[in-house]
Amino acid sequence: MGIIKILDKNVIDQIAAGEVIERPVSIVKELIENSIDAGADSIEVEIKKGGKSYIGIRDNGKGILQDDIDVIFERHATSKISCLEDLYESCSLGFRGEALSSIAAVSKVTLTTRHKYEDLGSKVIVQGGEELARESIAVSKGTSILVEDLFFNTPVRHKFLKSDTSEAVVVSDMIERLALCRADIAFHYSNNGKELLNTTGSGDLSEVIYRLYGKEVYDNLLEIDAELSVGRLFGYIGKPVISRGNRNRQSLFINNRYVKSFLLMKAIQEGYSSFLMQHRFPVFVLKLSIDPASMDVNVHPSKMEVNFESPSLLYKEIYHAVRNRLIELDRTDVTQLRYENETEVTEITEVTDATDNRSEAVQPQNRSEFADSPFSAMDLDFTKQLMKSGVADFSYQKRSEVYREREEESRYYEAKEDKEKAAEDFRKEYGEAVENIRIIGQAFKTYILAEIGDTLYIVDQHAAHEKINFERLMKGLNEERYSQQLLKPAVLQLTAKEELTVQRYMEVFEQFGFEIEHFGGQAYTVRAVPMSFYNMDINRLFVELLDHLGEMSEVGNIERIKDRIAGVACKASIKGGQNISDLEAEHLIRELLKLEAPFQCPHGRPTMIAMSRYELEKKFKRIV
Ligand code: ADP
Ligand code: MG
Repeated sequence: MGIIKILDKNVIDQIAAGEVIERPVSIVKELIENSIDAGADSIEVEIKKGGKSYIGIRDNGKGILQDDIDVIFERHATSKISCLEDLYESCSLGFRGEALSSIAAVSKVTLTTRHKYEDLGSKVIVQGGEELARESIAVSKGTSILVEDLFFNTPVRHKFLKSDTSEAVVVSDMIERLALCRADIAFHYSNNGKELLNTTGSGDLSEVIYRLYGKEVYDNLLEIDAELSVGRLFGYIGKPVISRGNRNRQSLFINNRYVKSFLLMKAIQEGYSSFLMQHRFPVFVLKLSIDPASMDVNVHPSKMEVNFESPSLLYKEIYHAVRNRLIELDRTDVTQLRYENETEVTEITEVTDATDNRSEAVQPQNRSEFADSPFSAMDLDFTKQLMKSGVADFSYQKRSEVYREREEESRYYEAKEDKEKAAEDFRKEYGEAVENIRIIGQAFKTYILAEIGDTLYIVDQHAAHEKINFERLMKGLNEERYSQQLLKPAVLQLTAKEELTVQRYMEVFEQFGFEIEHFGGQAYTVRAVPMSFYNMDINRLFVELLDHLGEMSEVGNIERIKDRIAGVACKASIKGGQNISDLEAEHLIRELLKLEAPFQCPHGRPTMIAMSRYELEKKFKRIV
């Protein structure tokens, strides 16, 4: 007898489920997409324990015919396409007919639905792929699906789920994007009975942005509506003043799908190039509607790879749309563009050569040429990530997060050791000479020149300041146990994700002397701060801090958290470079040299460079 056998349906479904359903967010996404495809304009999502124990989705879409109930839990059952041609014309979000069967294979599903043309609806319970019960019932039009006990029959996969909070964060993130994408749909979303998102479905995108990102962002939005040769770009970009330390508040939708096109993200970022400092990222919610024929979206829903017919043209058009909007603002509202730490806006130059060359170079007629273009070197790398990202596949994100964190962690400790060793060497060599600092003067209002022993030092006064501040704040976090009540509590308007981050770190914050209270909705107030944080822009501090902390997937190591808090805080407390007197300069250097690792500012830039007498003499050929 042969040993090859055909797997039974349950096994096949479970294997398929492994590809489609990885964690709660995949279920939420599939079900919401079904609701959207069914024409719903109101969608309620309720999850418990990050979706592990309970996911409930209710919509007011067209519902499911009683006669169709038999097949919807079958794999490859779909009402959306029937032949291959349909596939290419399909505007619906899902069309493989795999979601319901996959979800039902790994959990307990209760589906209640009534089609808009029928009087009676149906209720079906399916568990681990087996139908347990079915009845006809009178319900209101639409569909509601309950998913309980995810992975009850595959314990290994259950074990790989993250903490409830982490799962909830990715679900929130995804729903926020969907809400931005579909301002015409009212979303109601809650986790463990707590409402996290509520949109009205009015169709006004700026209103959704207001609800998600709060008043400050809303007040600093610039509307974009630009005709492009292949379609239209519209939505909102944030004024430079509300830029962030990461890309969390950037969303780009193409034909109503959330995508992460490296090419287009880069075009937008470049559009801001003369308006933003390095490592700052603009806020934007942009939608591109484009002739589907001019692009190629990989039809696998979890691979959001997009290729465009004429990428360089699209790049340029988007770049200019963003840039022109900012220049327009510049004319009307100069103050908005000033960097906080710098005195003047850098001159707005024409498109840099680099950008031009790069764009010119990309004139691919087909994909293989694209692969050889200079863009693709970046693109390929990035595309690899993107193929796996999109909203659909969080597995990649999960892996890379863990990887990134580990890498970061080890880099952090290595760097720390290096810096401390350099300082040690310095003190050994110059221990006494430090007593005699001779300030020579200041160059470009930025660098202090000083002679110490046999060495000429050039100190970046800004970096030095930052470093000293950083250490002072670190010390504060380590030693101070007193908080200072703020005269005027700071009110923070948070997104669902930020709120979860605040909750996750609440204990840590309290331990450091921050007093934070829930204020209602997604607003929180900061009533007290550690003594050394008094006089600081607390709103700004928290905006940045939550960005940073939100990137860590679990509550990080306390040393690293401290490091982040102080790092962010010292930025919030520093003013731009000015003239300083010799005495102040000397004081600054002395303070700096007292520190354990004086040579690098908290962001890794050097605080000073040195040139020994010997090096100078060699340069002038006094010695050979
Ligand atoms: P797909 O969405 O890829 O077609 P699914 O397994 O997600 O496959 O759903 C199977 C079918 O069930 C859909 O094609 C649709 O006809 C029906 N369906 C699923 N969810 C809903 C819903 N919320 N409202 C109406 N019909 C639905
Ligand atoms: Mg579907």
